[in-house]
Amino acid sequence: MTVLKAMYGGTFDPVHYGHLKPVEILANLIGLSRVIVMPNNVPPHRPQPEATSAQRKHMLELAIADKPLFSLDERELKRETPSYTSETLKAWRAEQGPEQPLAFIIGQDSLLNFPSWHDYESILDNAHLLVCRRPGYTLTMKEDAHQAWLDRHLTHSAEDLHRTPAGKIYLAETPWFNISATLIREHLERGESCSGMLPESVLTYIEQQGLYRHAGH
Ligand code: ATP
Repeated sequence: MTVLKAMYGGTFDPVHYGHLKPVEILANLIGLSRVIVMPNNVPPHRPQPEATSAQRKHMLELAIADKPLFSLDERELKRETPSYTSETLKAWRAEQGPEQPLAFIIGQDSLLNFPSWHDYESILDNAHLLVCRRPGYTLTMKEDAHQAWLDRHLTHSAEDLHRTPAGKIYLAETPWFNISATLIREHLERGESCSGMLPESVLTYIEQQGLYRHAGH
């Protein structure tokens, strides 16, 4: 069986256990030996991260330092402009060749938004989608056409993900973690504890850098 490789994109402002724990469990469930974490550049029309790219990257490095499952990919951060996931996955596919099974990991909230992503259908030409559960979101799409798209690609078999290079959507039965970067920023702004929501090393760095103490710009 070919080794399935997975990427995990996000803003990670900051990275937290709601990112890391479901993915570690997912990796055990379906037999993933490597997850490539890929922090993004945020498009100018969207609210900007409070932490700089260098700070977001550093927090990720701290968070994964003792977790060999994860590695970091800086390709999107290094670009001057935001990149579309569809383009990044096209490039990754070109690097990996047509047979290599590839996957992109998202949370349930991202699945619901997914049809609004640029060229979303082409993403499945190049990768599978692995979806982790997140509390507060349904597992059904708002529009019938999008539900039909989901049903067309859905698989319940982890083996499928290893057997085929791309094109499947897998809804993983990972536990709920009620943590978001927004919640953490709000807690820190109010001077409240975030213990247990993110790695201590990341929290110490946040304090050292004076991050998230004030309302976002
Ligand atoms: P924010 O609160 O700033 O919007 P976030 O916590 O949602 O941030 P992102 O960096 O935007 O984090 O998310 C990256 C990916 O991680 C997305 O696919 C998102 O769905 C997923 N994710 C984030 N938090 C969780 C969680 N608690 N459970 C499952 N998936 C999550």
